[in-house]
Amino acid sequence: MKTQDIAWFESPEEAADACRKLEAAGVPASIIESAGEFRVQVPEEFACVSLQLIVDPGDAGVVAGSMPVACPECGSFETRILPPYALIAGVSIFGVVVVLYFLRYQAVAFALVVVGWLLVIWLSRFTGKTRCMRCGWRFSA
Ligand SMILES: [Zn+2]
Repeated sequence: MKTQDIAWFESPEEAADACRKLEAAGVPASIIESAGEFRVQVPEEFACVSLQLIVDPGDAGVVAGSMPVACPECGSFETRILPPYALIAGVSIFGVVVVLYFLRYQAVAFALVVVGWLLVIWLSRFTGKTRCMRCGWRFSA
């Protein structure tokens, strides 16, 4: 049975509290201690419902934004927000174009503007997206 970490706590009491909430709802949760952290683990199929159970908006103990975003495709929490590729590419291409222009490679600079423009448009699809590290799915968080 695969397990999934759903929350991290600094004290065993907080972890036990989260565990109790989960077990009260019928989710078999366990606490793993490692490097001074107390991780609450649940079977993978309970990961989504578990998060909803322990994340109480009125609970001051849960810091907003500290929870990882779950992948809508596979439910994995191993997700990363993609860097602004379009902006990075746009700025670097612009820099190269300016240099080429002043080196009197106007034709090359113009070609690069066209290619760069298409590249930026293509890359802008990923702006603000979150990528799942497990299945590669990209989504808006
Ligand atoms: Zn996924």
